Amino acid sequence: MMLLDLVCFECVMEQVKKGVPYQNIGEPILTPFEEVNNTGIYKVICHKGHNSTVIIDNIDFEILFEYGINAIADGYFREAVSSMTSAMERYFEFFIKVILRSSKITFTTIDEIWKIISSQSERQLGAYLALYCQTFKELPLLLNPNKDIPFRNSVIHKGYIPSKIEAISYGNLVMQIVENSLIKLKKKYLKTTNETFDYYGYKRTAKLLIEQGNKKKENNQYLGIVNIMTTIDVKHGRELQQDDGRKGKIEDRIPIILDRRNPRNLSLLKKIPRIKK
Ligand SMILES: [Zn+2]
Repeated sequence: MMLLDLVCFECVMEQVKKGVPYQNIGEPILTPFEEVNNTGIYKVICHKGHNSTVIIDNIDFEILFEYGINAIADGYFREAVSSMTSAMERYFEFFIKVILRSSKITFTTIDEIWKIISSQSERQLGAYLALYCQTFKELPLLLNPNKDIPFRNSVIHKGYIPSKIEAISYGNLVMQIVENSLIKLKKKYLKTTNETFDYYGYKRTAKLLIEQGNKKKENNQYLGIVNIMTTIDVKHGRELQQDDGRKGKIEDRIPIILDRRNPRNLSLLKKIPRIKK
């Protein structure tokens, strides 16, 4: 099962108050694990019994794609194809929004446009295709209509159970479709890509949800923000560092993802996580 390794910020603050990492090394902090959810808000209870809230600084398609790789690792190949397809579609949505934003269109108007096409993936694909061609003067990489699309449809609509090899090969194709486009997008519109990520990512929407909840009751808990290092990653892409541990194809990622499910010890280094009380 996909679990996110998060951080207990009370444990972190305990250490910081003891002078870690500047005056002494301190003790390792065990990372708490939580099941993935749709809000990006995680209530964490650590091994010491602290209750805290953590928000992830990610966007839906990053998490959906990672969910797909985790499903392959667990032997749920149908679910993997479904999650990876959703990741690709949500990436197309992100791309469309970045390009619209790059023409100085407000997020309110972008939301109005999106509302009209939000329930029809064929319309979204059309918008992606047109905007991609306009931006890069060439066709984007897409699923092959004679091979990949019938495969996807048979899995999602007809109950076909794909093999591990089929799921991995589909996943690698989706990863290539998204990554090729995303890297080009960042190269051309880095600032707008980051701005759009911040607007539609979990961090902003989760903060809004928490603020709404806090109006009703007083909340003195620490609110931590954690970036989950996913394979497809907008802000900290694996293409940026040569020795990035997330490099490789789906088959290379699976053993690493399985290993990350074991408890890990966190040590405080020079940078202290951002904390809002
Ligand atoms: Zn703790």
